[in-house]
Amino acid sequence: MTTDDDDATRKMQFLFQLRSRGVTDARVLKAMEKVDRGLFVEGHFGPHAYDDMPLPIACGQTISQPSVVGLMSQALAPEPRDKVLEIGTGTGYQAAVLAQLTRRVYTIDRHRRLAREAERRLAEAQISNVTVLTGDGCFGLPEQAPFDRILVTAAAEDPPGPLLQQLKVGGIMVLPVGQSDMVQSLIKVTRHETGYDYDELLPVRFVPLVEGMPKGE
Ligand code: SAH
Repeated sequence: MTTDDDDATRKMQFLFQLRSRGVTDARVLKAMEKVDRGLFVEGHFGPHAYDDMPLPIACGQTISQPSVVGLMSQALAPEPRDKVLEIGTGTGYQAAVLAQLTRRVYTIDRHRRLAREAERRLAEAQISNVTVLTGDGCFGLPEQAPFDRILVTAAAEDPPGPLLQQLKVGGIMVLPVGQSDMVQSLIKVTRHETGYDYDELLPVRFVPLVEGMPKGE
């Protein structure tokens, strides 16, 4: 078999696995078929890029499991003309998937090194509608608010107040909540005229949302 055949088989298995874990939205599946996860994993993990598991990245963080990326993108349901904020860039994989689904993505990581590398990886993937920033995402991005959609990819005990405030009326925020080393729930927050609705989606496990910037960076 040629390498091209190997790649095609791997991608087919990848999509099959996503579907079997509940990722059924055609736009999301298409976006995930298009983005090469291999560009977002550390070199020696390359052979596992299409396995449905989280993998270690720099700064003691992880790249999320593909099926979780799919389920979160599906729950977020971004429209093509939306402005989306992601908290927790990591290597930029989730941002790359969101970039296929919507007009503009802002993504923030508290590790400058991760933000810089994500910028390089996204450029390599020829994605130009993502802005990567270094900062404490707990405060959101007031200068670009309000957002149609907000996705948090690190777990907080409760949804951070500034993020709730920066969500448009009619907007959706998806985030894991719960204590960092215990089982967390992925929840969907919908803002309406007079308040917020909360739906619990599924149990997940994410690295913690850490307040403040790392020392010495
Ligand atoms: N979205 C990534 C997952 C990254 S893991 C993916 O597509 O694979 C979660 C990330 O959240 C880590 O990189 C971590 O540095 C970042 N993070 C944790 N607390 C943060 C905060 N307060 N502000 C911004 N980023 C934060």
